Amino acid sequence: MPVEFAEKTVPPGRGIFKRFKGNIEAIAIGVKYFFDPKRSTLIYPKEYIKLRENYRGFIVLNAKKCINCGSCARICPAAAMKLIRRPYTDPKTGKTRMKLWPVINYNRCIFCGYCVDVCPTEALHHVNYHDVVFDNMEEMDQTLESFQQAPEHPTAKEGIPVRYIIDEEKGLVKVRVEGGEQ
Ligand code: SF4
Ligand code: SF4
Repeated sequence: MPVEFAEKTVPPGRGIFKRFKGNIEAIAIGVKYFFDPKRSTLIYPKEYIKLRENYRGFIVLNAKKCINCGSCARICPAAAMKLIRRPYTDPKTGKTRMKLWPVINYNRCIFCGYCVDVCPTEALHHVNYHDVVFDNMEEMDQTLESFQQAPEHPTAKEGIPVRYIIDEEKGLVKVRVEGGEQ
């Protein structure tokens, strides 16, 4: 049996207002907060949130500390960390041999931090930012060279660093913090 839908009717005389009531209310809220000096909207990228030092942002490899154990790649739940073969010259003996080095694919990484936690030599560390621009998908798949450098953080160069604090009376308040560069 076909389903019957009741026709929506609008009371005569109040039709237009009723139809646009939701839109008018939304515009009124927007106007109210536009003129509210306490509003806490982040004007990104002119402003950016300066995150705490222990924030789990992008990851950097210190190859000098890496012992090529592969634990970071084994524990990665997203298969973002992989091992690639690259030659390594021992500075003491001068001998070169192939070793397995970790590299990260940011197309897959979920920033869980397991790889950093499991590393026995602290060869991996997080930077405290999360807004990085990649031009294409290939760039997100790091090379051994790029994985050893902190990615460029453009908003920290051009924007104003801010933080949000909770004020007893005003609620969420945006404040400027000193030091634009990470
Ligand atoms: S942060 Fe998590 S998902 Fe990203 S590479 Fe490390 S273990 Fe894998
Ligand atoms: S866990 Fe640490 S030492 Fe082991 S391969 Fe990964 S980065 Fe290198």
